[in-house]
Amino acid sequence: MGTVVDAPAVVTEKEVVAENMLGDKKVTVVFVLGGPGSGKGTQCSNIVEHFGFTHLSAGDLLRAEIKSGSENGTMIENMIKEGKIVPSEVTIKLLQQAMIKNENDKFLIDGFPRNEENRAAFENTKISPAFVLFFNCSEEEMERRLLGRNEGRVDDNIETIRKRFKVFVESSLPVIEYYDAKDKVKKIDAAKPIPEVFEDVKAIFAPYAKAT
Ligand code: UDP
Ligand code: MG
Repeated sequence: MGTVVDAPAVVTEKEVVAENMLGDKKVTVVFVLGGPGSGKGTQCSNIVEHFGFTHLSAGDLLRAEIKSGSENGTMIENMIKEGKIVPSEVTIKLLQQAMIKNENDKFLIDGFPRNEENRAAFENTKISPAFVLFFNCSEEEMERRLLGRNEGRVDDNIETIRKRFKVFVESSLPVIEYYDAKDKVKKIDAAKPIPEVFEDVKAIFAPYAKAT
């Protein structure tokens, strides 16, 4: 840092808004990304248990918003049925509200950002991920898992699954590539059995271990 005399006359926006601040709380955010059925939700539960993060699934928040009877409910429901991506202002508002409401300061954001628009809009909130956990899995295996889980979801049918795969490849993979270029992606082989995948996840989260 220079002396006061060397300080630039114009203060950039970046310096005005402190990074990773949410109100008066400094947060740590990890994005958990991967195709539908890659095991994001399952592994997030494990991470919560072992490393004290709070799990925020963007899809779950949107489904709760539908159930709550909000004015956006019908729009969100139609997008989910088609495997399309909900406009980022809706999803970001839900994520921000959830982070403010929760007293924790470490969050796993699961299934978001899903496209470049999501990513850029979230970046404008001045919160950036510590890293991106990417669950890599073949479509064949993901399809098998999605058709095998019986959660009554409107989008777990073969027709919507195919659309979700297409959206993942076309819209979500570029987000992962964006963060990869910044060396922020930690890629996991997600085709293995759950406990084996978690062994790899654990190694990545070790620096975030709960103080016991
Ligand atoms: N969705 C969205 N924006 C998000 C997260 C989810 O629009 O940030 C919608 C999208 O239609 C997606 C659906 O919710 O296909 C289900 O997402 P979720 O992450 O629950 O399921 P996954 O694809 O991981 O199985
Ligand atoms: Mg999920």
